[in-house]
Amino acid sequence: MKEKDLLTLGFKETPKKHFYYHQQGDMIIIAEVMGQSFALLTSVAKRKELSSYLDRIVIHNPVVKRTYHQDSELVIITKKNVSVEAFKELLDNLYEVLKGCKCECRHCHQEKRVNVVYMDRSIELLCDDCSQLLKTNPSVKELRVGLGLMGSLIFGLIPALIWGFFNQIGMIISLTGILFGLTGYLGFRIFAGGMNRKGFWLSMLMTYIDLWIGEIIALTFSIQSAYTASVEQHVTLLESFRVLPAFLSDSEVLGVILAYHFYALILIITVYVIAHLIYKRRHSRPLETL
Ligand SMILES: [Zn+2]
Repeated sequence: MKEKDLLTLGFKETPKKHFYYHQQGDMIIIAEVMGQSFALLTSVAKRKELSSYLDRIVIHNPVVKRTYHQDSELVIITKKNVSVEAFKELLDNLYEVLKGCKCECRHCHQEKRVNVVYMDRSIELLCDDCSQLLKTNPSVKELRVGLGLMGSLIFGLIPALIWGFFNQIGMIISLTGILFGLTGYLGFRIFAGGMNRKGFWLSMLMTYIDLWIGEIIALTFSIQSAYTASVEQHVTLLESFRVLPAFLSDSEVLGVILAYHFYALILIITVYVIAHLIYKRRHSRPLETL
């Protein structure tokens, strides 16, 4: 039997590849195509007669390879290359045994009328109340915010060093903002295990701190070379670092520096927004009742 034969048997397609569902009364059975074999799945409370039925068909039905029934999840896996007739017989048989049973919601575990729901890239059997609840309150993952911010700060040292050592190339250094944005965003996401609003803004702040680290390196070098050129006397990096605060208090100097930062920040924000849109698209939990 081929995957498309499921449609002729009355199964309907789902958004998930190789997953189909079949409904008879209140009972819903999901079929998963697993290479050349099939799995029949449903959610129903454990009962003695169900257990003995599952044990029996493994031994007596030549097309059944394996069955199990755990936490209300009932699964029957067929052998490879099962014929359409044998599969239909198995399905009819299962409905016959499940007669009088009710599906159990996979979330609240109550015997209720359930719907086939596509959520978080999986197919679930959920009651109306639970699908409504999960639609409005998608579970929010706990993030390791502190670790994430450390990640941003550490990753951001790479563009900071570039900023520090290549600053003399002029305004074009602001393009490093793209790299700052990427390291800041990804540093948080990787270390925190995800991204949320708090992480978005705080890691951006970490990135800006990294930019300032780069700026301090750049200024220390440029003060040193400026002094050495004008006074014709070698000034150490430490000495030039010491005059940095005085240098920064000059509003004209600060104005030039902040202009560089302004362009870099625009790029950082742009990269953050794009990265976040991609992240949200990949991690949204569309809940679709079929
Ligand atoms: Zn429920």
